[in-house]
Amino acid sequence: MGFLWDLNQNLKIHTVQTDANRANYKADKAGRKALASLESVERLTLIVRAMWKLIEQHTDLTEDDLIKTVRKIDLMDGKLDGKFKPDAGPVTCQNCGNKVHSSQLKCQFCGKEIVNQNVFEKVRL
Ligand SMILES: [Zn+2]
Repeated sequence: MGFLWDLNQNLKIHTVQTDANRANYKADKAGRKALASLESVERLTLIVRAMWKLIEQHTDLTEDDLIKTVRKIDLMDGKLDGKFKPDAGPVTCQNCGNKVHSSQLKCQFCGKEIVNQNVFEKVRL
């Protein structure tokens, strides 16, 4: 009886240890994902600040113009919520003019590479 009880307890301990290892793995993975998101936000913030500095230096545009444009773009989805969701809809192939889903790397009609039009995706540091 004592041997079976010990065996059952060891099995329970092993199960708890396995669950704890899985939880640690998931927490590490979530932490890495959050860090990558933060680094992406920091990179985009840097690019936006550099762009605004150039615009201020080389045009007559003011902060008021910037704020009005931010609100205008924010409202494009119908809500003034300080967020922007990139359009994941179709893009037009620059070679044949057909509509292709933006996630595709090549045009399904002519095979030409789809050039990403999003300037923020082109800038790599
Ligand atoms: Zn095409």
